[in-house]
Amino acid sequence: MLKKFLQKFTKSSTQKLIEHESKFVAHNYSPLPVVLNRGEGVYLWDHEGKKYLDMMSAYSAVSLGHSHPRVVKALTEQAKTLAMCSRAYHTDTLGPFLEKLVDVAGLDMALPMNTGAEAVETAVKAARQWGYEVKKIPEDMAEIIVAEGNFHGRTTTIISFSTEPDYRKNFGPFTPGFRPVPFDDIKAVEAAITPNTAAVLFEPIQGEAGIKVPREGFLKELRDLCDRKNVLLILDEVQSGLGRTGRMFCYQHENVLPDAVILGKALGGGLLPVSAVVGKKAVMGLFKPGSHGSTFGGNPLAAAVGLEALKVLEEEGMVQNSAILGAYMLEQLRGINSTLVTGVRGKGLWIGMDFDPKHVTARVVCEKLMERGILSKDTHHTVVRFAPPLTITREQIDWCLEQVRSVIRELELKN
Ligand SMILES: *Cc1c(COP(=O)(O)O)cnc(C)c1O
Repeated sequence: MLKKFLQKFTKSSTQKLIEHESKFVAHNYSPLPVVLNRGEGVYLWDHEGKKYLDMMSAYSAVSLGHSHPRVVKALTEQAKTLAMCSRAYHTDTLGPFLEKLVDVAGLDMALPMNTGAEAVETAVKAARQWGYEVKKIPEDMAEIIVAEGNFHGRTTTIISFSTEPDYRKNFGPFTPGFRPVPFDDIKAVEAAITPNTAAVLFEPIQGEAGIKVPREGFLKELRDLCDRKNVLLILDEVQSGLGRTGRMFCYQHENVLPDAVILGKALGGGLLPVSAVVGKKAVMGLFKPGSHGSTFGGNPLAAAVGLEALKVLEEEGMVQNSAILGAYMLEQLRGINSTLVTGVRGKGLWIGMDFDPKHVTARVVCEKLMERGILSKDTHHTVVRFAPPLTITREQIDWCLEQVRSVIRELELKN
């Protein structure tokens, strides 16, 4: 019965499967027209068996590659032992996971959650709590400074401080207490700070905005400013963290330490949603029983997977690979001379390539790449991102570069 059901679907065309899915799923994404059913390492396969190089890594959730054998093993072993019990009890998995996490981050304590957005919410609460209890901001007056063009997730509070009209339209009323300032503008941050400012919450590199890298020294200036003004520095490294930029954390490029860092995506090893806020004791130590919680946050399955993911990242040299091959790929992409391309930016294996909307949309470039066996995804209509699993090899990158050059040449001819 099940076999027949599956056969019916594997035999049907891609279009049929897409139509079937579209009938039942809310249309809050516009996926590329491919139906995936298998992943291994840096590769994905569609339901007809065509192989693709993954240049997207599920927005960094698959930084370790698809179904990494060590993480799969940790998951299955823990699943057979104890998967879930809630934090009404202690477990023998949470301590080791969080010890490792605070150790790699250089911080003191962590609060585990599941998705990135929940961890951002947790950080917002932590910042406000610190504002009232330590900085003595008057009740309900705490402010958090954020960057224009930010992406921190999709909850109603988080979209309250988004500056992207599409993310907000028809979802008000919004949560007050946030102040957007231009990204990469230290003077604007300073001007926005008031005695009621609890924190500055920034992505060290803006991912969804198009992999926008601030000028060198910006994070350091931000750290100094926050110290001078008694304001917390909270970095959202849900996408930039865990090796993506060629360091375990993006803040390590400038030798600064935030008061708290938000992690997610890759922390789940490509298998589960695992997120956390990791911070200094002065901030994280303020949570009391009842002040915050999550039924699934820090569950044994997540803890076992998160711990193994961190070990794999370190022990398999993925962070160095990201630094070395990221620099190589950036240089090669910058060497592509085309009127269609208006810019290439990035750090580590996280690169955005701008296309001139007068000539071509990033979506069309992604569709052409897909035909040639490369999966990426456009952001903001003009940027094509290259963010492969950190296990990618030089040969695989060279193959990808060949396809990118061919697609650009093909599109140039049409212009
Ligand atoms: C993806 C992302 C989030 C939200 O994570 P979800 O798991 O989708 O809730 C938050 N911050 C940044 C920087 C992200 O890239």
